[in-house]
Amino acid sequence: MKKKYESLLKLGSKKSYSNNLNKRIRLLNTFCIIWIIVVLIFVSLEVIVGIALEFIKKNIITFDFINLNFFYAHFFILTSLPIIIILNKNFHFKWARFFFICVFILVNCYASLIISPGHYVEYYFLLLSLIVITLFERKSVSYFALFISFLLFLTPYYFYVVYPKEYVDRLIILETLCIFLVVHLLVNYFKESNIKSERLLALERDRVISDKMILEKQEAQLRELNEFKSHFFVNLSHEIRTPLTLIQGYTNQLNFDKSETENTQKTSIIKEQCQQMQNIINNIMDLSKMESNQFQLVSTPVEIHSFLEKHFINFQSLFIKKNITFTFNNNTLKTTILIDQELFSKAITNLLSNALKFTPINGSVSINTSFSNKGLKINVIDTGIGIQKEDNQSIFKRFYQVKNHITKSQGSGIGLAFTKSIIDAHQFSIDVDSSFGKGSCFTIFIPNTYVETITDKAVEKPIDTNKLNTITKESSLKATSKTNNKTILLVEDHKQMRDYLKKVLKNYTITEAENGKEALDIIKTKSFDLILTDYMMPVLDGEALVKQLKKEQNKTPIIVLTARSDQQGKLSMLRLGIDGYLQKPFIEEELLMNVKNSISLYKNVKEFDKVNTQEEVKNLNAYADKFNTKITTYINSNINSPLLTVDGIAEYMKISRSTLNRKVKSILGQTVSQLIQEARLEKARNLRAEDPFATKKQIAEAVGITNTTYLFDKLKERYGV
Ligand code: ADP
Repeated sequence: MKKKYESLLKLGSKKSYSNNLNKRIRLLNTFCIIWIIVVLIFVSLEVIVGIALEFIKKNIITFDFINLNFFYAHFFILTSLPIIIILNKNFHFKWARFFFICVFILVNCYASLIISPGHYVEYYFLLLSLIVITLFERKSVSYFALFISFLLFLTPYYFYVVYPKEYVDRLIILETLCIFLVVHLLVNYFKESNIKSERLLALERDRVISDKMILEKQEAQLRELNEFKSHFFVNLSHEIRTPLTLIQGYTNQLNFDKSETENTQKTSIIKEQCQQMQNIINNIMDLSKMESNQFQLVSTPVEIHSFLEKHFINFQSLFIKKNITFTFNNNTLKTTILIDQELFSKAITNLLSNALKFTPINGSVSINTSFSNKGLKINVIDTGIGIQKEDNQSIFKRFYQVKNHITKSQGSGIGLAFTKSIIDAHQFSIDVDSSFGKGSCFTIFIPNTYVETITDKAVEKPIDTNKLNTITKESSLKATSKTNNKTILLVEDHKQMRDYLKKVLKNYTITEAENGKEALDIIKTKSFDLILTDYMMPVLDGEALVKQLKKEQNKTPIIVLTARSDQQGKLSMLRLGIDGYLQKPFIEEELLMNVKNSISLYKNVKEFDKVNTQEEVKNLNAYADKFNTKITTYINSNINSPLLTVDGIAEYMKISRSTLNRKVKSILGQTVSQLIQEARLEKARNLRAEDPFATKKQIAEAVGITNTTYLFDKLKERYGV
């Protein structure tokens, strides 16, 4: 019931209305409802009392006592007031209050002049100014209402002269005027003080709300900080744990009884991982130093092309490993920029590491440079996962990481903050343009004041890369002032990589070829002391080139460079009889040693060839082929037998165990046990690929291995399966 009454009072009010307006609407509804109730009670009493009196007087019930004017007036009130409530309900508050005031005036005039003249009903007009004060905001309206109400009050005295003459004197006018005025001022005073306290209340409420908001914000920040702390430490632990695991693993594997090369390989990985950990810690330290302005830039002019090229080469093998096309498009030959080389290098490295991390397999990444009229731009563009617009600026904030499947377990959100600090310290700018799901482009802008181009008309002309290649090739062919006169054929499709290798092998005379086919054409006309070739190349790759050279009985030593780290690739190349195999990234020293050793070995072979006739060499090769086919066929046909042993093969080949080992090593580059093991693993891998439902036991039996766990451990070690 109470609820219904409450909702009746609220009719027509709206949340969007001001508090005061809603209050006035409620007041109007209250006036209407109270008036209706009062009228109903009043009319009921009139009727009941009238009937009772009639009955007492005449002993019958006649209804003659009913005054029709009284009836009309109350009927009018009972129909008008609900209409006012309906107007309010339909949000016509202005019309509703206007109508209410009209009804009030009409009813009072009618009552004071027609229904009950001389009954002092006109005193009800006192209420008019009170009603107007509460329903209207403006003071002028309420004073006007006071004036009108007083005039209306005077009507029965002066216009209709309802009262006897002696009742009407000036004193009454003055007295009532005072009463009207006092009541009006009193109500006005209460209205004003109410408004004032409401204002204070609103201010207090606003303060409480803003305090609450601040508290909520602080709570959210604390929660975020807490989440960040745990996320940051989990990620950091992960970042550090990875190198730590590798360091631990390889340290355990170090065995000084084993060959030096094996141990060197392991220690180099250990060193690399230590460096990685060092980098993580350095980044954190550098960033905090940078942010507390303890950093001093040591800027020097740096040639941008070779600077970026160095980074390109360093990252190349990592991108190849992930099968990402990585290119470097430089349009800024002979341009130097003023940078702190060490710091700027960290910035570029961070951008490239991110591109590598956030670009999926088969994507592409490029480093581009270009000039605008205001300066030089370096872009690192990738076709990776991209960044959403709302994150574009936040990613440069310290510890900020976009939540995605990669950052869940990797990174610390430091890289880009550090990069931006470096770029800002140089007074350059960095920006990102990214399309979510498609890729990102990070741009470093270097203003002209920090860029210097050596104005050489020839250089400024658009560069014809074909021409450039021939120029380099010719110049390298012509190069004579070398410390030794050994010649190397360098087969590599990446120009930057070729340039880098040329720098490393500066003491040799280099001839360049972009792929295997070009190399074969050059070899037809010229002989070399060494062939240094890449593994993966367009047109004709390194493997095909080596096969062709071997087929042609070419004795030139071959060293293969590759980013492939799997044993399979390495073994298939070694089986072809190459002389060296270097995995990118390699140490310059390692390459130089390999080249030197292979060339001196080749010298011995040449001398041996001088002694042996062409015919003898031919026979030797034919023998090696025959030997290879015989032994491989035997192994393959007995592969499922656990009894396939070195002794068994020696018996089959009708030679002693030691002769067999020596021959296999010299012809196939492996020991007999390695040969058997390799064949078994290869067969197991093929079986697994052919029939994914085959059980481990079935596969182990098919390749003659009784210990299933051993076989699968080895497979994992070899192929990562
Ligand atoms: P981290 O890589 O350690 O998470 P960074 O400060 O280097 O921290 O990068 C901040 C965030 O910016 C990353 O978490 C990642 O979400 C986003 N980001 C940076 N580089 C790239 C990119 N090339 N592609 C997509 N997102 C990127």
